[in-house]
Amino acid sequence: MFPPGLLKACFLSSALLLATATATSGLAQEPISNLLPQQDRITTSNDSSNCRCIPGDACWPSPTEWSRFNQTVGGRLIATVPLGSVCYSSDERYDKAKCAQLRSDWHLTATHYRDSASVMNQFFAHGPGPDGGQCDPFDGDSSPSGQERNHEKCSIGSLVTYSLNASSASSASAATDFISTLSFAHQHNIRLVIRNTGHDYLGKSTGAGSLALWTHYLKDIDFFDFDNTHEAEQQGSVAYKGKAAKLAAGVQVSEAFAAAKAHGLVLHGGNCESVGVVGGYTQGGGHSVLSSAIGLGADQVLEWEVVIPPSSATGHPEPRLVKATPFNEHADLYWALSGGGGGTFGAVVSVTVKAWEDFETAGAMLMFSANSLEDRGIFVKGVQAWLEGLPGIVDIGAGAIWFLLKDVLAVSPVLAPGVKAKELEEAFKPVMEKLDGLGIPYASSFTDFPSFHDAVAAMVAQQNVTDANMGGRLIPRSLVTEKEGAEKLTEALDAIASADGTVAGISVNIERGRKLSKAYPNSVNPLFESAIQIGVFGLPYNHLNFSANIDAQDKITNVFGAALEKVTPGGGAYLNEGDPHQPDWQTTFYGENYERLLAIKNKYDPEGLLYALTAVGSEKWVQKEDGRLCRA
Ligand SMILES: Cc1cc2nc3c(=O)[nH]c(=O)nc-3n(C[C@H](O)[C@H](O)[C@H](O)COP(=O)(O)OP(=O)(O)OC[C@H]3O[C@@H](n4cnc5c(N)ncnc54)[C@H](O)[C@@H]3O)c2cc1C
Repeated sequence: MFPPGLLKACFLSSALLLATATATSGLAQEPISNLLPQQDRITTSNDSSNCRCIPGDACWPSPTEWSRFNQTVGGRLIATVPLGSVCYSSDERYDKAKCAQLRSDWHLTATHYRDSASVMNQFFAHGPGPDGGQCDPFDGDSSPSGQERNHEKCSIGSLVTYSLNASSASSASAATDFISTLSFAHQHNIRLVIRNTGHDYLGKSTGAGSLALWTHYLKDIDFFDFDNTHEAEQQGSVAYKGKAAKLAAGVQVSEAFAAAKAHGLVLHGGNCESVGVVGGYTQGGGHSVLSSAIGLGADQVLEWEVVIPPSSATGHPEPRLVKATPFNEHADLYWALSGGGGGTFGAVVSVTVKAWEDFETAGAMLMFSANSLEDRGIFVKGVQAWLEGLPGIVDIGAGAIWFLLKDVLAVSPVLAPGVKAKELEEAFKPVMEKLDGLGIPYASSFTDFPSFHDAVAAMVAQQNVTDANMGGRLIPRSLVTEKEGAEKLTEALDAIASADGTVAGISVNIERGRKLSKAYPNSVNPLFESAIQIGVFGLPYNHLNFSANIDAQDKITNVFGAALEKVTPGGGAYLNEGDPHQPDWQTTFYGENYERLLAIKNKYDPEGLLYALTAVGSEKWVQKEDGRLCRA
C-alpha cells in the first residue's frame, strides 16, 4: 500500500503557480475562481458512480463552483501550496532564505500544525508509488551535496487540494462550516479529509484530490458541573457527577492542560503537547502517563457533538449535527467514536470530558547504557530486568515512557499521579537491585511535585516530529510476568535495537485506570487492558531517497513487526501508532470490536464519505495509480 495522489502534471503546475494561500494566517488571499482556470483543467475519464472525482475530471467542481462554495464559508477556503515550494528553484515561490528557515524548523510540530495541508509523516505527503510527486524541502535545490535528489519539481503529491479553515467564532457556527463542507464534498463526489494537526502517523489526515475540513483554529474550552445521574439511573448505569470540560475540535494537549491548570483541574492528554485532543487522540483511544490512574483518553468522554455524513439511504440527505452520549439514541455512535478511530464515523465539533481535581504527583527517571560494560550481554540482561519490573511500577498508578536504542535504555518521564516519590522509588527497587547485581551503573531520580502540572512542566520534554518509518505492538502483561516470556520479549526488542531500530513506548496499567475512573464501555481495542506496553518501533525517514523508505517500511512490517508478532501471537496494536502496512489490520487494530464498528459505520455513513487509510470500512475502497479513490 502506497500513499495516494499522483495528480496530472498539467494540473499540478497550474495549481502550484496559481494557488495562493497563506499557511500561517490560514486565509486564502485570492478568489478561489482565479486558482484553477477552466482552460488548465484536463478531462480524464472517471466512473463517478464508483470513484471519487479528482482535479482534471469533468466532474471536479468548476472554478465558479469552488468560488461560490468559498463565499458560503466566509472566504475561508484555502488552496494548498506545499510548504516545501520555497525550496525548489523551478517554483515561483523559490526563496533560499525561507527554505533554509523551513529546513531548520521542519522538525517542529508547529511548522506542520499551523499549515492547512502539511502532514508530519512525510511518507504520506508523497504521491502514489515509488516515483510519485512530492515537495519535501530537503529534496529541493541545494540539498546536501553529493546526494542525489528524487524530484526536480515541487508537486502537491498526496496533500489535500483545498482546505476549509473552520475557524468560526462559536461551536454553533463551526457546526455550520462542518455541515457545508461535508455537504459540498458529498454533492460533488469529492474525497473528504478531516484534519486538525496532521500528527497522524498512518496517513489518515491527507489524501490526493481531496477537500479537507480543517478544525485547527477551533479552540473553545469551557468548564462546568456535569451530572448525568438521571439518565444513568434510568439505564442502571454508573453516573458521573463532577467537573467536566467541553473542548472544541481544534484544542491541543498544551491548551487543554493550561486551561485545566487555571481551574486547579487536570484533563487527560498525551505526552506530546501539540497532539489534538478531540480528533485522532481521543477517538483512537489516547494513552497518557495518566492512564494507570484514570484510564485512556476515550474513557474520559461524556458526550460528543458530531456532524454525521449525509445519505439518502438513511433518510438524511443533508449532514446533521447530533449529540452522542452513553445513554441517548446515539449511544452506538458514542461507543464507536470513543476508541474506534478518527475520521471515520462523523466530524466531531466538540467533546465533553471528565475533569479531575489536580493530583500531587511523583516523577522518576532511570537510565543506563552498555558503554561502560565489557559485555553487551549484561546490558541486555538489564533490559530484561526493566521489563520484569514493569508490573510493580504501573500497578501503583504510574505511567512510564521509555525507549531502547542499541546501547541505551532511557526511562523518562515516569509520572505517578496521587503517589509519593518514596512509594515510586520502592516500586523501582526490584529493577535497581537487579541492575546492581549485574554491575550496571545507572542514573535515577525520584521527585515529589505538588501538582500534576508541575510534574509535566519539569519532566515532559517538548516533542518533535517523528521522522521515522514506524510500526507498533501492544505487549501483553503476561509476557513479562514469567521468565521465559520476558526472555523472549527482551530478545525480540534487542534484535530491533541492534539493527539500528528504535524501540519506544509507554507502560501503563489501563485496567486499573479504567476501574478507578468508572469508564463507560467503549470501542477501544480490548487488548489495551491486558497490555503492559503500548510499543512502537521505527527506522529513520530518508528525505532524499524515497525508495529507502519503502525498504525501511518493508523491514518494519516483515522483520521487526513479524518478530514481535511471533512473541505476541493473537495480539494487537494501537491504531494510532501502528504499522500503516499492517497485515490483517482490522483484527490487529480493532480486535473483537471490528464487526460491530463496521455495522455502526454502515449505519451512520453508508456511502463511505469518510475514508481514511486503515479506518473502519476503508477496505471497501482502493486507491488507484493516479490517487483516485474507487470502490473496491
Ligand atoms: C510526536 C507524537 C507524539 C504522540 N504522542 C501520543 C501520546 O502520547 N498518546 C497517544 O495516544 N498518541 C500519541 N500520538 C499519536 C496521536 O494520538 C495520533 O497521531 C492522533 O491521530 C493525532 O490526532 P490529531 O487529531 O492531532 O491528528 P490529525 O492528523 O489532524 O488527525 C488524526 C485523525 O483524526 C481525525 N480527526 C481529526 N479531527 C477530527 C474531528 N474533529 N472529527 C473527526 N475526526 C477527526 C483525522 O481525520 C485523522 O483520521 C503521538 C503522535 C505524534 C506524532
